[in-house]
Amino acid sequence: MRIVVLAGGIGGARFLLGVRAYAREVGAEVTAVVNVGDDLWLHGLKICPDLDSVMYTLGGGADPERGWGRVGEGWTVKEELAAYGAEPTWFGLGDKDIATHLVRSTMLNAGYPLHAVTEALATRWQPGVRLLPATDDRLETHAIVSARSEPASPAVANSAGTADDDKGQRAIHFQEWWVRYRADIPTHRFVFVGAETAKPAPGVLEAIGTADLVLVAPSNPVVSVAPVLAVPGLREAVAAGPAPVVGISPIIGGAPVRGMADRCLAVLGVECSAAGVGRLYGGRAAGGLLDGWLVAEEDAGTLVPEVTVRAVPLRMTDEAATAAMVRAAVELT
Ligand code: GDP
Ligand code: CA
Repeated sequence: MRIVVLAGGIGGARFLLGVRAYAREVGAEVTAVVNVGDDLWLHGLKICPDLDSVMYTLGGGADPERGWGRVGEGWTVKEELAAYGAEPTWFGLGDKDIATHLVRSTMLNAGYPLHAVTEALATRWQPGVRLLPATDDRLETHAIVSARSEPASPAVANSAGTADDDKGQRAIHFQEWWVRYRADIPTHRFVFVGAETAKPAPGVLEAIGTADLVLVAPSNPVVSVAPVLAVPGLREAVAAGPAPVVGISPIIGGAPVRGMADRCLAVLGVECSAAGVGRLYGGRAAGGLLDGWLVAEEDAGTLVPEVTVRAVPLRMTDEAATAAMVRAAVELT
């Protein structure tokens, strides 16, 4: 059996622990197609937050408390950068984490594509699943916000290549929106810069085309899963592919389990509920993505047109509980 998982960072990583556990039980192969919309260059370093969350979590090196970055992290470099007044200062950059970014940046600067770099980094971490970036190309999530808010950090705004327009709006990089402003700033919409010309990373379409099951992790639908699906050809491959597609709701009882998906959904005008996210993805038979949608027991009775909905426990408290979610997804198909 071959399983493909569309995933963001922390929610995707936790879910993949359960997918890996299930796969070991039944002898399945797992490919994770991971969001790169959060990626950015800072201080000359290429940072891929979602790929790293997945890699560290599956490799046993993640900080379980903080949810992102390395366990036993140090912050000397961050403090030293701040002492120079080197902007931006709001982005968490740990010492151990920086080693990952150094290796990655050196390889990218030498001409290796991101999927090859990701594979090289994974030889250390042995995540037990195949990790693929959704694309090797630049695809950055930007938030279009009201220009009344403070000016963007030059370091990030410049790398983004976007600026104020004459409607009093400006684009800021997703990380600035999320980390610096805590998603609490008047926001009009999101754009995926570079999406039009991005190509699926080598292996992505093949994995989807030969999968027996595609799972949409309980990741943020707006800023984790949507940028994966924004890579031209990727959504189409999933929607037209041979494998059933089952999504897992990141929203339980009308609220995200953690994070700020509620703020992201509000920008789209989508109700923050298991039904709202299910309808946002849509049923495959109705031109959308899903055949099945797992919601939490609290959300039993959720209806999504053309989608088989089942209510099961959806809290990823440990690997066994998460593997049970995966089993429920398999049984739904
Ligand atoms: P990020 O890229 O690090 O923000 O992480 P993701 O986008 O992959 O995942 C974030 C989403 O995971 C949030 O919207 C949470 O609601 C969801 N999430 C976190 N823990 C759980 C859980 O235990 N169960 C479910 N169903 N969703 C969860
Ligand atoms: Ca993310």
